[in-house]
Amino acid sequence: MNIYPWQQSIWQRIISQKERMSHALLLHGRAGMGKLDFAMHLSQSLLCISPIDGHACNVCASCTWFKEGGHPDFKYITPEEADTSEDAPKKKATKKTQISVEQIRQLIQLLSLTNHSATALRVVLIHPAEVMNMASANALLKVLEEPPNNTMFILVSHQVHRLLPTIMSRCQAIAMPIPERNAAVAWLQSQDVTSADDLLDYAGGAPLTALQSSNDFSAQATVYQHLSRGNKLDTAVCANLLLEHGMEAAINLLQKWIFDLQLCVHDLPSHYHMPLAKPLQALVKSVNLNGMLDFQRQLVQAKKTASHPLSQELQLETILLQYKKIFG
Ligand SMILES: [Zn+2]
Repeated sequence: MNIYPWQQSIWQRIISQKERMSHALLLHGRAGMGKLDFAMHLSQSLLCISPIDGHACNVCASCTWFKEGGHPDFKYITPEEADTSEDAPKKKATKKTQISVEQIRQLIQLLSLTNHSATALRVVLIHPAEVMNMASANALLKVLEEPPNNTMFILVSHQVHRLLPTIMSRCQAIAMPIPERNAAVAWLQSQDVTSADDLLDYAGGAPLTALQSSNDFSAQATVYQHLSRGNKLDTAVCANLLLEHGMEAAINLLQKWIFDLQLCVHDLPSHYHMPLAKPLQALVKSVNLNGMLDFQRQLVQAKKTASHPLSQELQLETILLQYKKIFG
């Protein structure tokens, strides 16, 4: 793990002030800019036994622990995933909720124990800090007001206005940089992202979001190829591919696809599928407008029963049969 090119100068600033650093940092800024990776790198560096120019050495015992996710003096606090073990449909996406007060209580208990590492430092990383509820935020506030010795808190927030002002006042706020367009495009290209310019627009200028959507497109490439076949679509194969991510995700994908098809009918640029403009344009030539609107309504209807686990394959196949019919 490393920091991103656009974070170099903020990194230098933080590391040069290391000795005078507040016991709580608040890294804030828009999502998709790499704040969490930065915070992770900073945490590892602070715990590293022999850092090189302020960066983690990646080879010491501490770094090894950290990379394996088992460093005893590093605590990462993030929303716990909701329990989906009951009769949830296959591979249904888990929903992230809040950072609970139990999580903060466990943290307080942990901090009351002695620390383990050679650096005699403990690091607590909280991400994203704005999803603490009132109880957990108040519990954390108490810790920040009377911080335990040799403990560094790093809070990462995408929506700093949602934090308690009292928590903010206990932290040294650091505005995380937004990369210049050229730098972001260059970085995306270095990650083998094609259509970097378009994807960056689509992601509102956030390079990590752009990279994520590029990966999503690659993962779904086969599905899009199927949908691009219009009335020649193989419904059974496509239904199976779509269901890999659950019924709700399948319908979401179809809704976005139809939304973009509609934009394309009106000669407007694609909203969700920038790199797929060509297949969409090809489809538009044979689309039946009324059929498309009907299909859209059908998707809204289907979404209401999407969580019902029965015969999803069959339901999705029926939907895809309807999809085929909108192309002449
Ligand atoms: Zn190290």
